[in-house]
Parts: sequence; C-alpha cells; structure tokens
Amino acid sequence: MTIGFGLIGASNIAQAHMIAAIRSQPDSDVVSVYSSHPERGREFAQANNIVHVANTLDDLLKHPAVQAVYISTTNELHYEQALASAKAGKHVLCEKPLAMTLDQARRMIKICQQNNVVLATNHHLRNAASHRTMRQLIADGAIGQPIAARVFHAVYLPPHLQGWRLTNPNAGAGVVLDITVHDVDTLRFVLNAEPTEVTCLTQHFGMGAGVIEDGAMAIFRFDNGVIAQTHEGFTTKYASNGFEVHGTEGSLIAKKVMQQAPIGEVMLRNADGERMIELQHENLYEVGMRRFIGAIKGTDTPSASGADGFASLAAALACLESANNRQTVTIPNLLSAAL
Ligand code: NDP
Repeated sequence: MTIGFGLIGASNIAQAHMIAAIRSQPDSDVVSVYSSHPERGREFAQANNIVHVANTLDDLLKHPAVQAVYISTTNELHYEQALASAKAGKHVLCEKPLAMTLDQARRMIKICQQNNVVLATNHHLRNAASHRTMRQLIADGAIGQPIAARVFHAVYLPPHLQGWRLTNPNAGAGVVLDITVHDVDTLRFVLNAEPTEVTCLTQHFGMGAGVIEDGAMAIFRFDNGVIAQTHEGFTTKYASNGFEVHGTEGSLIAKKVMQQAPIGEVMLRNADGERMIELQHENLYEVGMRRFIGAIKGTDTPSASGADGFASLAAALACLESANNRQTVTIPNLLSAAL
C-alpha cells in the first residue's frame, strides 16, 4: 500500500526536510500541496516535483490519492486544518505546537480518534539516536536515579525564518512555542516523566516585536522528582547546544544534540570515568516518518502522538503563563479529560 501525502502549507520545513522524509520511505509519496497563495503553491510544487496543486483545502482533501496530510502552516491554522483532514478520513501528521490552546489540542485528539485516523506531532528531537539512547540508558539504570537535567537550546534565528515567529502573536510567535515546546517534549521523552510545575522568565532582546519573547529560561519539576532547566533563544549567535541528565550513579552529557541534523555525541561519566556512547545516527525526520507510516499501517506507533503534542503544549503554555504572571505555575494533567 502506498501512502499518498497531501501537504497543507508551502512551508520552509516541508521543503527543507519533510518532502525528502516522505520520499525516503519505500511506500509513500507527496501527491499534492495546498497553499493559500495559488501562485506560490504552483512554484512550490514545481520546485519540489509535486504533480498536483490544490487551490483549496477541500480540493486537497478530495484528491483520491491523498491518504495522509502533513500540516506545516503557521500555528493558528493547525487546529481547523487537522479537524477538516480527520473528518475527511485523512491521517494527520501535524507540526508543533500542535495547536494554540489545550481545548483545541484536546478536540484534535478526539476528532482523530472518532474518525479512526492517526494523529502525530512532529517533535523530531525524540527521533534522534542521542535522545533515544539516553532514554534507554536511563531506563536501564546507567545513571542510577535521575536527579536533575539541563537543556541548552538557544540559537540565532536564521534570516529566512525571521518572519511571523517574531511579529505575529496570533500565529503563536515567540521562542517558547517555537523551541521550549520541543525541549520540554524531549525532556518528557528522555526522562519518561511528566512535568508538574514550571517557573519561567522570558526576555525581549530586540528581535521579537513588542511583547514577543525572543529568549526564555525555565525550571520544570517532573513527577519523578527531577528538576530540569531549559534555555531557549533566537538572539544568541555563538551559543552551543546540549542536553545533560545527572543521576545518583552517573551523568549523561550530550553535545550538539538539540538540532535538526543527525549529529552530536553522548558521554557517560560515572565512578569508572568517562565513556563515549556509540550512536547509530539516522535522519530524525525520516525516523518520524517511518513511524507515522507504521502507525497508519498498524505496525507501529507515532514517535510523538497527539497526546504528546498536547502534553508538551500544556507545559509550554504554562511557561508563558509563569513568565507573564511572574509565578510558578502548576502544569495541569488534563489529557485524560480529552480521551
Ligand atoms: P513558513 O513561514 O515557511 O511557512 C508557514 C506558512 O507561511 C506556510 O504555510 C505558507 O502559507 C506561508 N509562507 C511560506 N513562505 C511564504 C512566503 N514566501 N510568502 C508568504 N507566505 C509564505 O514556516 P516554517 O516552515 O518555519 O514553520 C511551519 C510550521 O512548522 C510551524 O508550525 C512551525 O512551528 C513548524 N516547524 C517545525 C519544525 C520541526 O523541526 N518540527 C521546524 C520548523 C518549523 P501557505 O499555507 O499559504 O502556503
């Protein structure tokens, strides 16, 4: 069975990573693209060798070869587009943040369930060999009981992405919904634990317009007792990135692992000294795509489900609430109400 994908949104991320990820799978292809700007849609299709251009979302969803959609529009559009896709019987791989509100994300999960379609969230970092290996090592007891974690993920937003992320609050602009949501998802995955509260400070360092934050630091408490610190930014030109987990019997220290490319290293430090961990690097987006297609076929589960998108969004929204109200915020475990 070949899975035909319809792209909803003629976006950077689709062009840079996801079209290739779809085509990397032996049994899937991109069959149509929908853009709200037909001319750009045509150019995008031509540049990416996509045969069909849909002028409306309805056109895309009616295309007989489209079984699944990949939604990579700006964040405020994910909700309506996912609902329409699910109601048309299409499986949904949606970009993060899954939605703008928890009510929307909850409804997306529900409507996908009711229509018997897969819902996955494109949190790519949990597909990295580094993060998967750290999760396994922690589960195997390699560092004893985890105590604390630190995530370094401050970047310099490249000029071609300096658009709505910095200017449009209605589209979910700001570094928290852009990067913190990924970091908290990766922490949830690696620690196999859920955040219960957060204290967050945000920063406005000249890149984000008006109230839109372009830097954030947060401290989360997880339900296994771990406290975790995260740092995200758009304005730091020379920062490095990394992920550390410190336990009673050892520490995992990972460098250059908070990025899109399949690179980076993980070191285990304990009473025996320091040891580099062997990693089988693989394209993060291809791993996610393989699992999404497996979920459609019933042979696998999505690497990040709709429920993961919900939980990571809940934590990111709690960060914003904490920063805005200058308070520690409890992260609600409201997912069960959604299911
Ligand atoms: P883009 O700005 O490239 O695309 C978003 C939308 O903007 C598109 O759907 C398109 O609208 C419109 N657009 C694109 N190019 C132009 C242009 N030249 N002129 C006018 N409008 C344009 O966004 P990104 O690819 O950076 O992000 C899209 C989504 O993917 C977001 O939800 C983001 O959070 C997520 N993302 C996820 C990443 C990951 O690794 N998981 C990485 C990067 C982004 P139209 O629909 O009409 O074609």
